[in-house]
Amino acid sequence: MSGAVPEQIEMFVGGRPTPGSRAERQVLLNPATNTPLTSTAVASADDARAAMEAAESAFRNSGWAGDDGARRAKALSKLARLLEEQTERFALAETLNMGKTLKESKGDIGYVVRTLDYVAGLADKIEGETIPVPGPRLDYTIREPMGVTVHIAPWNYPLLLAIRSVAPALAAGNAVVLKPASLTPVTALLFAALAKEAGVPDGILNVVVGSGREVGEALVTDPRCRSVSFTGSGEVGQRIAELAAHRVVPVTLELGGKSPVIVFPDADLDRAAKGIAFGVFGNAGQMCWAASRLIVAASVRDFLLEKVVAAARAYRLGPGIEPTSDMGPLVSRDQLDRVIGFVDEARDGGARIVVGGTRPEEPELARGNFLRPTIVDGVDSSARIVREEVFGPVLSVLPFESPDEAVRIANDTKYGLFAALWTRDLGTAHTVARQLEAGMVSVNESPNTYPQTPFSGYKESGIGFEQGRNAVEVYTRRKNVLLNLGASKPKKP
Ligand code: NAP
Ligand code: MG
Repeated sequence: MSGAVPEQIEMFVGGRPTPGSRAERQVLLNPATNTPLTSTAVASADDARAAMEAAESAFRNSGWAGDDGARRAKALSKLARLLEEQTERFALAETLNMGKTLKESKGDIGYVVRTLDYVAGLADKIEGETIPVPGPRLDYTIREPMGVTVHIAPWNYPLLLAIRSVAPALAAGNAVVLKPASLTPVTALLFAALAKEAGVPDGILNVVVGSGREVGEALVTDPRCRSVSFTGSGEVGQRIAELAAHRVVPVTLELGGKSPVIVFPDADLDRAAKGIAFGVFGNAGQMCWAASRLIVAASVRDFLLEKVVAAARAYRLGPGIEPTSDMGPLVSRDQLDRVIGFVDEARDGGARIVVGGTRPEEPELARGNFLRPTIVDGVDSSARIVREEVFGPVLSVLPFESPDEAVRIANDTKYGLFAALWTRDLGTAHTVARQLEAGMVSVNESPNTYPQTPFSGYKESGIGFEQGRNAVEVYTRRKNVLLNLGASKPKKP
């Protein structure tokens, strides 16, 4: 079973596994049992700088950055095929390291494959333009890769969220240094070896493991760093933006959310109930865009709530590797304690826990970080559980009387990543979609995205965007070239 995860894993720098300069190693636990899974090397700040040097050298010398987008497309397509062939192995590794169910992990790996195929298709279409200018002159633009790009990833979708920004950076011809979350580095390290097999030159994709504060900050502040892509908490995102500002390095930040799901009285309530459950209990609620605030028309609230509670009760908790499990454990004991802390605080403040709110009673789940799907009623927008990102399977219920009130509650948050709404009325759908302060809106759909659709947040949910047709251009610089073809007089300033 754990053949998917080697007993020891090194970092991957300059095209080969490397233990780094530190003697100590990090032991990773399987979140379903809290027993040791593997150990990894841990980088120092010096190791981080060595990875930046390896990337800079490969960027200059390997030819990857040259004009041949077709070569990069070929390597990325091959990488997609290799990963596709090894879906089972990668999914198992993801589940054992992070906890999500195998079905969810397979979905994640499939998404990475589609992302690689999508950006491979863009790699030979990075084009400039010619711009008409007066006189015998020629003006054109070229798009060039940035150089060394740094990518810092979270633990909730370990491979998916890492490769979502790494793949377009590679397609554009950059050299990458990736730091996965300390808790979940396994699949990123396996992926780097696969990239080499696919023909990505040594040093073009480097993966270092180490603490955000030491290794992450060493990467972001390194003079060779030309761009930072970060997915994770708002607090760390702000810190990274500050550090990057000192050297005017562009950042893409995909931060948290407190996404609303609005249900109008005319909605298909059966479908809505399933979508609501999926949107907050999927991945055990550890989703940046978890639709964790149910804003429901008072007239249908009891009826809908009954259906969502039934959906919550139907979730079978268990280790992600069991095919019968619908929900795995939370990623770590700390995360479990944090989520339970939110629920306890709400209960103490007078909220009603409609379902869940406790760990499961089955003795075989006692060692893992499991929490039952939880619904909290009797709260308002001032409660911490409604304002802050809980990052666990917890839904808060907020009733509304009028569409204006629904939109007001939905927008009453510092976040703006995603919003869902359920209605059969086209006018309501389009009007409310425009009124919602969110980078992504779904109508009659759970949170859903594709490599070809932009993924981004409004307000404190982030800046820049990932995915979509322009995803590769984000990792390029635009240069203007103006030629004088023989105009006799230089233009007066
Ligand atoms: P986090 O602290 O923001 O960590 C995300 C990544 O940033 C990890 O690779 C982390 O490394 C690194 N990091 C931490 N401090 C850093 C620094 N000073 N400079 C550079 N990199 C740094 O997120 P977390 O601790 O895993 O989770 C905390 C909360 O963030 C969650 O409960 C949730 O609310 C939110 N979160 C959001 C998302 C999302 O997709 N929007 C994903 C995960 C978590 P280490 O792993 O070594 O700390
Ligand atoms: Mg952290």
